[in-house]
Amino acid sequence: MMDFGFYLTPSSTIELDKVDRKAVDDLARADSGFRTCIACGSCTASCTAGVFAETSVRRAILSVLNGRDEKAMDLLSSCMLCGKCMMVCPRGINTRHLILSLQKYYNGK
Ligand code: SF4
Ligand code: SF4
Repeated sequence: MMDFGFYLTPSSTIELDKVDRKAVDDLARADSGFRTCIACGSCTASCTAGVFAETSVRRAILSVLNGRDEKAMDLLSSCMLCGKCMMVCPRGINTRHLILSLQKYYNGK
């Protein structure tokens, strides 16, 4: 293998072929924000809970797209549904609805 001077540790390797596409499609149907998010990070920067805990809508969405549903749930476990992230999202994503859709989907499994 060619040495590029860096490597991916196994824990951060994303095997997109193994991602559960059905879960991604189901969630995108429940809330289009999973498709329209541009990962700008405004939600994370403004998050009320982010000061106290590792909370990030941006990373939760990316985790879903990368097949890491447990990580996505962890990242939103301290969310208080205050809606601040919704007010700053440049794509107008209803983040509270997105968060609730995510929790409903995985808690119902
Ligand atoms: S603010 Fe909106 S577009 Fe930006 S990362 Fe958060 S959900 Fe995605
Ligand atoms: S709704 Fe949740 S994720 Fe969004 S700013 Fe409030 S605590 Fe953070």
